[in-house]
Amino acid sequence: MNRVYNFSAGPSMLPLPVLEKAAAEMVCYGESGMSVMEMSHRSPDYEAIIQDAEAMLRRLMNIPENYKVLFLQGGASTQFAAVPLNLIKRTGKADYVVSGQFSGKAFKEAQKLGYDVKCIATTKDDNFSHVPVVTRDMIRPDAAYLHICFNNTIYGTKYSYIPDTGDIPLVADLSSCIISEPIDVSRFGVIYAGAQKNMAPAGLTLVIVREDLLDYAEEKMPTMLEWKTMAENGSMYNTPPCYTIYMAKLVYEWILNLGGLTVMQEMNLKKAALLYDYLDSQDYYIAPVAKESRSIMNVTFVTGDADLDKKFASEAGKAGLKNLKGHRSVGGMRASIYNAMPYEGVEALVAFMKEFAANNPKA
Ligand SMILES: *Cc1c(COP(=O)(O)O)cnc(C)c1O
Repeated sequence: MNRVYNFSAGPSMLPLPVLEKAAAEMVCYGESGMSVMEMSHRSPDYEAIIQDAEAMLRRLMNIPENYKVLFLQGGASTQFAAVPLNLIKRTGKADYVVSGQFSGKAFKEAQKLGYDVKCIATTKDDNFSHVPVVTRDMIRPDAAYLHICFNNTIYGTKYSYIPDTGDIPLVADLSSCIISEPIDVSRFGVIYAGAQKNMAPAGLTLVIVREDLLDYAEEKMPTMLEWKTMAENGSMYNTPPCYTIYMAKLVYEWILNLGGLTVMQEMNLKKAALLYDYLDSQDYYIAPVAKESRSIMNVTFVTGDADLDKKFASEAGKAGLKNLKGHRSVGGMRASIYNAMPYEGVEALVAFMKEFAANNPKA
């Protein structure tokens, strides 16, 4: 059977060369005589894999020396709790920007833990069709951190700038845009991301944390959520998600071989431009996101007619363009065009959109 173009928001497409390499190595890895899935995480073969994964990611993202890279479990959602539990003791309070569903969940999780957290900006009243403007004077001067979600997967919005937080650590959920373009890691205190959008299969959560922020964990901290413990143990306090880390390593290697994040960004911009240029050139489909907040990873659009939207997703699926239905909370369509989506996939989508518009005139 042929592979389809899978526009799923996550888990999502992985680069074909990565899948093929994993397949070739699946039963016997190198000279080990076993699969990576069967290896002790303490074995020399596996130690080399996790160390290479970290080294490659550091090279790819140009991560400064004074940042720790952690390969964890529990998804980005677990970090919604881990962030305040690791950081809030710095000053006792924290600020949040709510720009969509995930940042809303992160805010609620910190509230649930009983902390003094404040939502300093939200675009909820505009249906999250853009991200808020965030300036330094909006943040409480004694906030332990400011939390943002950099790319809003469900709504298809993204910050076009990194908010200036001065000395206040910026904590960002980068789940759906990590390694899609170069980013200045030094502007952030903490970056975290679930791997299943743009990095690897599900099961791995990446945390990149500045070393001086490891000293504020709560006393009664669950050990598994404590970044410092994980950092001191090279992400191996317990069994790490071994195979998923191996897959992430293959993805990092694939991007490095392409030329790194600058090349990746060029490819992603080209794909996104193809789709947005088409959306801007016609009036059958509507792109609800404000231009300055457009994501290059998740592109949302609607016909304006819920039945047509449904028909679109269903017929596209039959044409080999899968998972274009928007998130269940917003409806419409969403094309997730992460790193692994080839340009040809977006070309096929635009061709299908034209055909569908011609065949389904609106009443
Ligand atoms: C998918 C996603 C999450 C949730 O990730 P899990 O790994 O399923 O917990 C959080 N934030 C963003 C931005 C996401 O895209």
